[in-house]
Amino acid sequence: MISIRHLSKTFNNPDGSVITVLKDVNCDIDKGEVISIIGPSGTGKSTLLRAINMLEPPTSGEIWVDGENIMEKGYPLDKMRRKMGMVFQSFNLFSHLTVLENVTFAPVRLRGLSEDEAKEVAMELLKKVGMSQKAGVYPDSLSGGQKQRVAIARALAMDPEVILFDEPTSALDPTMVGEVLSVIRQLAKDGLTMLIVTHEMRFAHDVSTRIFFMNEGVIYEDGTPAQIFEHPVRSATKAFVNRIQKLVFEIENDDFDYLQIHTGLGNFCIKYNIADKIEPAYVLIKEMLFNYMRPYRPLTLRFTHAELSGETAIDLMVEGLKESPLPKDESLENVRSKVKQIVEEPTVRGFRVKLII
Ligand code: ADP
Ligand code: MG
Repeated sequence: MISIRHLSKTFNNPDGSVITVLKDVNCDIDKGEVISIIGPSGTGKSTLLRAINMLEPPTSGEIWVDGENIMEKGYPLDKMRRKMGMVFQSFNLFSHLTVLENVTFAPVRLRGLSEDEAKEVAMELLKKVGMSQKAGVYPDSLSGGQKQRVAIARALAMDPEVILFDEPTSALDPTMVGEVLSVIRQLAKDGLTMLIVTHEMRFAHDVSTRIFFMNEGVIYEDGTPAQIFEHPVRSATKAFVNRIQKLVFEIENDDFDYLQIHTGLGNFCIKYNIADKIEPAYVLIKEMLFNYMRPYRPLTLRFTHAELSGETAIDLMVEGLKESPLPKDESLENVRSKVKQIVEEPTVRGFRVKLII
């Protein structure tokens, strides 16, 4: 359905310097595919989406859609825009129009639907994204997650062949990420063709037919989710997909700020969708800091989460320590019963206790 050949995009900066953001992008996208584009920031993911729908006209290359090169001079852009919907990080709803009007606006003007037809279609789509009850309100009264669901309904209202999503959940409060992802999951099930730039690794893994890993302006590696996440071939891909999110606290002495740890941990778990770990983590950290490891100061407390494997761990590191601070007897049972595994290991600079929860 879409073929991209040797696509490049160069920006001329005001100071005269030139930056090549897309170098030589090539790919084919079939109807019904759900492709997640992942990669470090600044590698051209947004630019690629904006180039594909000509919001940011490419410098050179070809973009074939349904057998026509849309970069050819004279190709009608409105025809291309009807085929491609776009959902942005920042929603971009019209604030002076109601939810319903946001969704009917383009179909009436660009698809030539009557007001009544457009309303009927819009109400159906709002129902699909769980927003039909808010049809009459203005976007300002909606939460971020609700705005983004309306933006998705608005894109669907043009009956596009493909929807391009640019980090649809990045601007959202962590508690609202789920509702937007589940709408996108449903669209994937319906067989809609989608290109999704996302940082949500688990989601990308579960929902996609293919993954593009972008790095330094090219599609550096592509493959099925299993290939990219479980068996990446190139080293930069490996490093990216196996990256671990960390929250670190230095405990200098006994009057450390426990409230800060408590709050930080709660926010971290919500952000990475592991709210179920909050309670056990609180209990274990308290137990370690105030009981077993009380004599060991300073120590470094790290809370880690590997997004892809889902492994979450509490890591306590004491410099200069030669052996485990934990008791060998059954008094540790109250900790053991709450963890998957306890790892006690010497490190280059001291000793680490790791609780995998
Ligand atoms: P990503 O979405 O992967 O984070 P982007 O596509 O937004 O990356 O940006 C890639 C690079 O292109 C960045 O270095 C960015 O500064 C640069 N860039 C993006 N848009 C413009 C622009 N309009 N003018 C100049 N440089 C730009
Ligand atoms: Mg971006």
